[in-house]
Amino acid sequence: AGPVVIIGAGHAGYQLAASLRQHGYSERIALVNDEGHLPYQRPPLSKAYLKGTGGPDSLMFRPEKFYSDQKIDLISDRAVSIDRAARKLLLASSASLDYGHLVLATGARNRLLDIPNANLDSVRYLRTLDESQSLRDYITAGQRVVVIGAGFIGLEFAATARAKGLEVDVVELAPRVMARAVTAEISEYFQSRHAAAGIRIHLGVQVTSIESDGSKVTGVSLSDGRHIKADLIVVGVGVLPNVELAEKAGLPVASGIIVDQHLLTADPHISAIGDCALFASPRFGGSLRLESVQNATDHARCVAARLTGDAKPYDGLPWFWSDQGPDKLQIAGLTTGYDRVVVRGDQAKAAFSAFCYREGQLVGIESVNRAGDHMFGRRLLAANGSITPEQAADPGFDLKSALI
Ligand code: FAD
Repeated sequence: AGPVVIIGAGHAGYQLAASLRQHGYSERIALVNDEGHLPYQRPPLSKAYLKGTGGPDSLMFRPEKFYSDQKIDLISDRAVSIDRAARKLLLASSASLDYGHLVLATGARNRLLDIPNANLDSVRYLRTLDESQSLRDYITAGQRVVVIGAGFIGLEFAATARAKGLEVDVVELAPRVMARAVTAEISEYFQSRHAAAGIRIHLGVQVTSIESDGSKVTGVSLSDGRHIKADLIVVGVGVLPNVELAEKAGLPVASGIIVDQHLLTADPHISAIGDCALFASPRFGGSLRLESVQNATDHARCVAARLTGDAKPYDGLPWFWSDQGPDKLQIAGLTTGYDRVVVRGDQAKAAFSAFCYREGQLVGIESVNRAGDHMFGRRLLAANGSITPEQAADPGFDLKSALI
């Protein structure tokens, strides 16, 4: 097969290198890393790391010794182009790497705000360790922060900032928070929890301009004419998959690098995994691009198995979590395209789940502080099982009895 070269040392790239060795792959593995850190975990960047005082080491998957012991060449460089005919990857340092198989694990980058003053130092994003570190060092009690975007990262940041004593306003264009990802039941719960913590959430409005005194942010104007004072703006308006390398190499891309159910691109020597991959899903029909640790690591395991002789179509069950203040949201399955939602548990007691159905079939479960429901959902849905909406709604129904 020749050397495996992996572009990007995030969740997907790191896991692929580690899994290849676990599966007994003995040839060269090169992991091209364009961040100035050992491969690290991203989820804590908007949660524990932002809140805490621990150093960057607490985020690393493995210490440096792991890579040398496992003979994984961590290459601190940036991939700039792919010569498919010669099977060569060119790097920014002008070095190059020959590959037998190339894996694009390039992830995604922040979608930038496209309005005047968005390049001021006090307009921040939250994707990388460096961004989280500099935000953590920057925020202090009493500052006024406007968070643009009420998605997972915006709300996680908002909850942490509020807990640290900042004045927090969240501005969201959609009529409810996390609208693209969760049911209205979950949105409403989190809206009331964040409001109770003193976070002001402005729905159905947009930031139309950022005001400054020449160097620092002083506030924002909203599409409904209101102004909010601010010392800091944190933008969480989604990400763009890093598809440019693939596109420049002539590989098909759309809203991600297009891969088949084996996560292979149109070139049999190139795969794509994780946030950057738009993959054909037999489980769900059609193509999916997901942004989650589960998706990145399960993609990596699937490709590691294929490259060591055990090719199977990718069939991972999506799952996800988000920690916001004292609440833990967990999602099993894909909760889109549902036509009925059944609540199990008690919103008032801060422990409930939304069971989502399509045509009578369970498609996903969103749980708040109900880890048992979440684990049940992952097992049941992975096995393509279901329970009826009546069973889901019945507190006396024993979920375990549905697992065979
Ligand atoms: P990434 O982790 O983005 O890694 C891609 C890497 O490739 C990056 O290091 C990038 O710099 C590098 N790269 C890109 N281009 C090149 C190039 N040309 N040359 C060399 N290197 C390159 N998911 C959850 O499931 N639960 C959570 O609670 C959660 N919280 C999150 C919180 C934050 C703040 C963020 C940012 C994300 C969170 N996610 C969470 C999402 C999760 O982290 C991502 O889905 C996951 O990191 C995707 O892994 P990846 O390897 O595909 O991409």
